[in-house]
Amino acid sequence: MSNADWQGKHVTVAGLGVSGVPAARVLHGLGAVVTVVNDGDDERSRAQAAELEAQGITVRLGDGDTLPASTELVVTAPGWKPGKPLFAAAADAGVPVWGDVELAWRLRGRDGKEPAPWLAVTGTNGKTTTVRMLASILEAAGLRTAAVGNIGVSLLDAVAGEQTYDVLAVELSSYQLHWAPSLRAHSAAVLNLAPDHLDWHGSMEAYAADKGRIYEGNRVACVYNAADRATEDLVREADVEEGCRAIGFTLATPGPSQLGVVDGILVDRAFVQNRQKQAQELAEVADVNPPAPHNIANALAAAALARAFGVEPAAVRDGLRNFRPDPHRIEHVADVDRVAYVDDSKATNTHAAEASLAAYDSIVWIAGGLAKGATFDELVTGCAERLRGVVLMGADRALIREALARHAPEVPVVDLDRTDTGAMSEAVREAARLARPGDTVLMAPACASMDMFVNYNKRGEAFADAVRARAAESA
Ligand code: ADP
Repeated sequence: MSNADWQGKHVTVAGLGVSGVPAARVLHGLGAVVTVVNDGDDERSRAQAAELEAQGITVRLGDGDTLPASTELVVTAPGWKPGKPLFAAAADAGVPVWGDVELAWRLRGRDGKEPAPWLAVTGTNGKTTTVRMLASILEAAGLRTAAVGNIGVSLLDAVAGEQTYDVLAVELSSYQLHWAPSLRAHSAAVLNLAPDHLDWHGSMEAYAADKGRIYEGNRVACVYNAADRATEDLVREADVEEGCRAIGFTLATPGPSQLGVVDGILVDRAFVQNRQKQAQELAEVADVNPPAPHNIANALAAAALARAFGVEPAAVRDGLRNFRPDPHRIEHVADVDRVAYVDDSKATNTHAAEASLAAYDSIVWIAGGLAKGATFDELVTGCAERLRGVVLMGADRALIREALARHAPEVPVVDLDRTDTGAMSEAVREAARLARPGDTVLMAPACASMDMFVNYNKRGEAFADAVRARAAESA
C-alpha cells in the first residue's frame, strides 16, 4: 500500500500494549483515522490512552468487543484470541483483520526502495536464540541487519523507521503467524513443534497450521528439522515459489540438501556445487555457545537461513563465535566445589527442559512451578538415568514428584513444599548437598514461574544470587 492509501482510512487497533501503541502511532502518522479499543480500563491503559489521545487518536477503554462503525481495517495485538466477538463482527462486516506482523509486512517499501527480505524463524523453542545467532552471522558477513520480532528492534520500527537494512532476521510466534496472511519470507525455518499454547489455537492441528504459515510463498529455502517429522510435513504442505528448496538440519551426518554434523564439524551439504558428493565445512561444534545438542540444532538452522541468503562459510563461523546467549538460557553461573551451576530459567515448558537435561551427564535437577496442563512422564523417562537427585518447589511440583516416583523411584527427591520467592536459596542449598564433584546443578524448571516469581528473569536472578552466595561461603 502506498502512503496515499492510508489517508483518511478508518483503522481500529485492537489492544493497547507493546504492539498496539506503536501501531496506532504509525497509522496515525500515515493519515489514517485511528480508534484503539481495549478490554482493560486500568491505570496503565488510562495513561497510555491519554498519551495517544493527546496526539489525536481516539481510545475506547473497557470495551474490546464492539467494532466501531465505519471501520475499514482491524489491526490486532497478536495475543487476542481468534474467537473474540470483535473478529466475528469484522467478518460479518467484511472488514479484514491484520496482526502486527501483517501490518509491518504491508508497510515495507513505502520509501520507494526495495524492501529488505525477511529470513523468518518460528518453533516451539529456540526462536530467540536462533534469530540472534542468525543476525550475528549476517553481521559477520557485513550485512546491515537486525534481530526483530519479539526481540530487539520492533518489526514496525524496522520497516517504518529511519534505518535501512539489507536483510532482517525475524522471530515469529504462532499467534503472529495466525494474523499474517500475506507474509512471504525469503526463507524460513520451523525449529520444532511440541504442544504449546493449545488453549489459544484450539488444537494441535490449528497450532501446527499457524506455524506452517511461515513457509507460504518462500522464495529460496524452507528449513526444517530432520529429527522432527511434523516440521517436514509442514514444508510439504506449503505453497512456495517455483524453485524454493526444502533444506533439513540434523545433528547426524547430513544427506544431500541438509546441514549436519560430521566429526565435530558443522557441515553444509545443501548450498554447495555438487551436493551428492560435496560438503562444505562451516564451523566447529566448539564455536557454538553453549555447544549443547539443541543449541547446535539452532546454530544449524541459523546457518541454513544465512547460506540460503548467500552468506559465505567463514561468516557463519565468525557469527557463531561472536554470538553470546541471552541470560537465563543454559547460562553457566559458577563452579562451586567442582559442581557446575546452570541457569535455564527460560525452560518454561517440558520440551525446553528436555533439551537442557539432555546436555549434561550427571544432574541435580531443580524443577517445578506452574505446569500449564503439562505432564512429565516422558521428560522424566528421558533423563532418569542421568539424575543424581531432584529438588522440587512451586505450585505444581506434585506432578513432577509423581512422575519421578513412577519412572525414577531410586532417585533422591527433596520436596521443599514451598511456593515463596525465598525457596530458591533453600533449593540451591539442597542441590549442593545432593551433588558430587563433576555434577551439574541445573535449574530448568519445565514450568512457568509466575506462582513464585514475577517472571522467568527474576527466577533466574534468584538462582544466580543463591549460587553466588554459596560460592562466597565456600571461598
Ligand atoms: P523461544 O524464543 O522459542 O522461547 P529461546 O531461544 O528463548 O526460545 O529458548 C528458550 C528455552 O528453550 C531455552 O532456555 C532452552 O531450554 C530451550 N531451547 C532452546 N533451543 C531449543 C531447541 N532447539 N529445542 C528444544 N529446546 C530448546
